[in-house]
Amino acid sequence: MLRLDKLQKSFGGFHAVQGVSLDVAEGELVTLLGPSGCGKSTTLRCIAGLEDPTGGEIWLGNNCVYSGARRLNLPPEGRRIGMVFQSYALWPHMTVAENVAYPLLRQKISKSERETRAIQALEMVSLTNAKDSSPGRLSGGQQQRVALARALASQCQILLFDEPLSNLDVRLREQLRGEIRDLQRRLGITAIYVTHDQSEALAISDRIVVMNKGKIVQVDGPDALYTRPRTQFAARFLGSVN
Ligand code: ATP
Ligand code: MG
Repeated sequence: MLRLDKLQKSFGGFHAVQGVSLDVAEGELVTLLGPSGCGKSTTLRCIAGLEDPTGGEIWLGNNCVYSGARRLNLPPEGRRIGMVFQSYALWPHMTVAENVAYPLLRQKISKSERETRAIQALEMVSLTNAKDSSPGRLSGGQQQRVALARALASQCQILLFDEPLSNLDVRLREQLRGEIRDLQRRLGITAIYVTHDQSEALAISDRIVVMNKGKIVQVDGPDALYTRPRTQFAARFLGSVN
């Protein structure tokens, strides 16, 4: 579904992403886990088309959306990718439903279809009651649900999450990560999830990609990674030094 082939991104002489290769299957939730500055967000932004890579290839299904060698670089709107960020980035002057429907405006979708899709997406995150509210009246957790509904309404082929829960308190974080996981499984969504929280990664992922300094250190299922970290770095980062 998604394939990164030796993806690279440099800023001037600094190599933020150094040859990351990864295959994500359809319906899989893969987490990028690693310390601050290891290149998680940069990798996501390259996949979304928000950052121009400096080398390698990115494939979505059978479509190459970026190739350094072929000078191919599809803009974000050509990639059908949804993103949920740490900050909810909701428009304060629009209702919840209007926020969810807003990205559909650019997709030339009729008004009634936009409204139907917004309501359906809000149902998925159990927020239909709040459809006419102003986002500012909602709690942080609810606002992040609206942001999730907005990504779902666009019916993208892949969803990218960049530390979506880090602004929330521990209890809400645990609750919402369960909800995201359930929804992702139920709808068969392909997702890449970025976090630097080990327990979140272990709880939510089909596979975990441990990154350090722009490179992949290990890729494994949560159990295998926790019980058999292959490097000192992975062991230390997962808190299971042996
Ligand atoms: P965090 O957990 O703190 O969000 P991260 O793993 O997401 O970290 P990135 O944001 O991908 O890290 O950044 C990777 C490295 O690239 C960092 O050293 C960062 O300073 C650098 N970097 C990112 N964006 C830019 C930019 N626009 N210009 C220069 N350097 C950048
Ligand atoms: Mg980041």
